[in-house]
Amino acid sequence: MNRENKRKTFQKGYYKTHPCGDAFTCKACGWPVGPEGAGSGHRNHCPNCLTSLHLDIEPGDRAADCGGLMEPVAVWVRKGGEWAVIHRCKRCGALSSNRVAADDNPMKLLSIAARPMAAPPFPIEHLHKLAGLAGSEILE
Ligand SMILES: [Zn+2]
Ligand SMILES: [Zn+2]
Repeated sequence: MNRENKRKTFQKGYYKTHPCGDAFTCKACGWPVGPEGAGSGHRNHCPNCLTSLHLDIEPGDRAADCGGLMEPVAVWVRKGGEWAVIHRCKRCGALSSNRVAADDNPMKLLSIAARPMAAPPFPIEHLHKLAGLAGSEILE
């Protein structure tokens, strides 16, 4: 265990009172990510491609050993209308929910939100047949 981890263990809630100001380069798209502009103390994903790293168990605690890339797989709406991103670790499959930062790529967020609509689990070409069937049932 290194010194920094020890400090975090002994100081309960260390990460909550110490915002992470690290700058890093996104491992997925190469975007240079700075701490400014996020609108909060913790930036845990790339504002361009929204990919995260599996480092935290709770936001900011850096307690996970995995280190795998976490893909954004879904968005959901929190109480109050705030958007959050669901990340899934490519290495271990862990899921986590993260608040959207002020400067997150809005097109990327929308494309994630629209993905299930664009790729339904049935052939979209047959939708008119299904609609036709439903219609005839109502008429009968
Ligand atoms: Zn990225
Ligand atoms: Zn993982």
